[in-house]
Amino acid sequence: MSTAESITIDKNGKLSVPGHVIIPFIEGDGIGPDIWRATQPVLDAAVEYAYKGDRKIEWKEINAGEKGYQKTGQWLPEQSLEAIRQHVVAIKGPLTTPVGKGMRSLNVTIRQVLDLYACVRPVKYVPGVPSPMKHPENINMVVFRENTEDLYAGVEFQAGSPEAEKLISFLKDEMNATIAAGAGIGIKPMSAKNTKRLMASAIVYARDNGYPSVTLMHKGNIMKYTEGAFATWGYEAAREQFGDITVTEDEVYEKYNGTAPEGKIVIKDRIADMLFQQVLLRPEEFGVIATPNLNGDYISDALAAQVGGLGMAPGANIGDQCAVFEATHGTAPKYAGRNKVNPSSLILSGAMMLDHMGWTEAADRIRSCLAETVKNGKVTYDLARQIKGSCKLCCSEFGEAIVENI
Ligand code: NAD
Repeated sequence: MSTAESITIDKNGKLSVPGHVIIPFIEGDGIGPDIWRATQPVLDAAVEYAYKGDRKIEWKEINAGEKGYQKTGQWLPEQSLEAIRQHVVAIKGPLTTPVGKGMRSLNVTIRQVLDLYACVRPVKYVPGVPSPMKHPENINMVVFRENTEDLYAGVEFQAGSPEAEKLISFLKDEMNATIAAGAGIGIKPMSAKNTKRLMASAIVYARDNGYPSVTLMHKGNIMKYTEGAFATWGYEAAREQFGDITVTEDEVYEKYNGTAPEGKIVIKDRIADMLFQQVLLRPEEFGVIATPNLNGDYISDALAAQVGGLGMAPGANIGDQCAVFEATHGTAPKYAGRNKVNPSSLILSGAMMLDHMGWTEAADRIRSCLAETVKNGKVTYDLARQIKGSCKLCCSEFGEAIVENI
């Protein structure tokens, strides 16, 4: 009989993690099974190395996506969502979403149904990884993307549908809006409550991980009552809840001669399009970036490109009750089942999961052994094509090479 138990969480959000713990996983679609098969042995080897059998993970497969549909007739079975709620922490591969037709994104649905409001995506350079930047070592940012609202809230009506027509009539007749006849409509809800909780988690992260600033990324010059309000509410959250540890960028210049006081986190904001150029030209000026859902989606992939591409980009979706760890990228259908892609994205997501559980020794071991493997020139195709003289490994071999280092 297994002695494995679930993680529990108290009303203050503190996790209690048993030594022998059950963690649910969703293999995912496309390249999901390949990267999961390479990842799981790395996580197990690091836990064994760090805790010599005192701690251990029992993996519990739960289904979603194509595998979920084949097994249960449902793309996102309720029992899978329930297993994540019950076990508090889970890890998943990417899931397919059709463009412009069919069902809603399963990934977005998981985030919304479980209220995983902060999508956390660290972007940190691993030495030896090819980068288009002159000084990639200056890149150390973490994107906090609001995960539950904005244009991703799923309030969308197809062009020509009775709902779209009704809404267009209302907006024209009652709100004096100009909208082209037959337009498709998407609604962009953004609230003070959801912005402030995202901002609070970004500031707590900056405080706990030594980041000097939190930048609010928004397009508030154009969308004043959504993105503009996001920036206003973000500053409010900082002042109201973290006034003792934060200072605004304006205050730094007005009161402190341009140098932030020791120990204070600087809160600043940047217009989204301008931030895209500043993270290229002056990446060292940015630490944590708090942003609405759509901007966060865009900037995450762009930043990933600066540190080796999507194959190197981990992530997490974190709420007050549970958390789901997943790579930033999607199912990359072109490479599905070819045992070719870079599993670092999911391996590093697994390390983030171990950090979240407080198993930091195992997480650190994964990061250092992955870096060691890359330094030895052992990499998957995406990096190999940019590193002269490297040894190109397939997805599973790369995982095995890390395990050998552990
Ligand atoms: P993608 O992120 O799946 O892949 C784009 C390209 O990035 C690939 O063709 C490949 O060149 C590269 N890439 C991605 N992962 C890589 C890896 N591990 N190693 C090396 N290279 C890698 O984007 P897409 O093709 O636009 O989307 C495919 C599907 O994935 C869509 O259905 C989309 O909705 C879905 N998606 C899911 C998630 C998620 O599950 N969280 C996220 C994004 C996209």
